[in-house]
Amino acid sequence: MEIKIQLTDHPKQKPTDQTKLGFGHCFTDHMFLMDYHEGQGWHDPRIVPYGPIPMDPSSSCFHYAQEIFEGMKAYRTAEGKIQFFRPQENFKRLNNSCQRLVIPQMDEGFLLEALKKFVTIEKDWVPSAPGTSLYIRPFIIANQDFLGVHPSISYIYCVILSPSGAYYASGLNPVKIYVETKYVRVSKGGMGMVKTGGNYAASLLAQEEAEKQGYSQVLWLDGVERKYVEEVGSMNVFFKINGEIITPALTGSILPGITRKSVIEMLKSWGMPVSERRLPLQELLDAVEAGTLEEAWGTGTACVISPIGELKCGDKHVTINNNEIGPVSQKLYDTLTGIQWGVIPDPFGWIEPCC
Ligand SMILES: *Cc1c(COP(=O)(O)O)cnc(C)c1O
Repeated sequence: MEIKIQLTDHPKQKPTDQTKLGFGHCFTDHMFLMDYHEGQGWHDPRIVPYGPIPMDPSSSCFHYAQEIFEGMKAYRTAEGKIQFFRPQENFKRLNNSCQRLVIPQMDEGFLLEALKKFVTIEKDWVPSAPGTSLYIRPFIIANQDFLGVHPSISYIYCVILSPSGAYYASGLNPVKIYVETKYVRVSKGGMGMVKTGGNYAASLLAQEEAEKQGYSQVLWLDGVERKYVEEVGSMNVFFKINGEIITPALTGSILPGITRKSVIEMLKSWGMPVSERRLPLQELLDAVEAGTLEEAWGTGTACVISPIGELKCGDKHVTINNNEIGPVSQKLYDTLTGIQWGVIPDPFGWIEPCC
């Protein structure tokens, strides 16, 4: 399929101070769009100036949240080249999300080819300061103008690009996590394993209440028994208890993170197998009591590795590893970011060159 290109007449001023980029505020000059209509399939891929998308107020995504998204990054290497980290995994997950929300699936090979073309056009927007990257946000919204509760017959696929600052401006500071016992994010059989806005809408109130108490993220328990650890905010979670590295198994209510998968594969290659199993909150609290909880960290595209330094559960309040980053977390962080920015070799074949 041929991609039409319409370049902007009014290129924006690029951010001058890359240390102040932050996350998600600044967008590049263009966006990638593609349409779907029943009977026609996905068609009309195009790169156009970044701007508002006209939508009928009755568009189904506004009312019934038929939408999905992805999150990935492009990295600039010291040689000035631009590369992606396992982008095929993102497009595979996009199609899995489509399947759950009855959105027509897309051609993964075409999506990668189109992304390369798009990022190549915007290559001057990929920042070069240490730790910075170009955040890539593909998403699909249902835009049939119809108020019935029914899968839409038309959709828009869109990709926007956002230069992002270093996640850790002042070193890998451990985060404070609030164990959520009142609200649930998802339940088995729901949409927990897909990246869809509805899951985030369900999490906002808990997140706000946790922040009010001085915690940066919420640790979710399973939605049925509220006994088992699932994930943290927008991160998967790992614990090292008495030498065993544990992460909750993908039972359907947990988002299968690509960073999670990479961490498991990396640890395995170092001879440190990971137990993917159910992890009762009680086991975690017992480990704290016994002094055997050695390390805890979250994983996700934005932070890569986020050490957890404090947990609050009911009126219990515990510190992990002296509120310092542990050796496994540090090694994972250094290796993953080293591969992503091309500082160390990639023995896994995870890097996809762009331009
Ligand atoms: C995106 C996401 C993650 C992390 O996935 P990565 O592919 O590692 O970025 C974890 N949990 C939730 C709920 C997410 O949306």
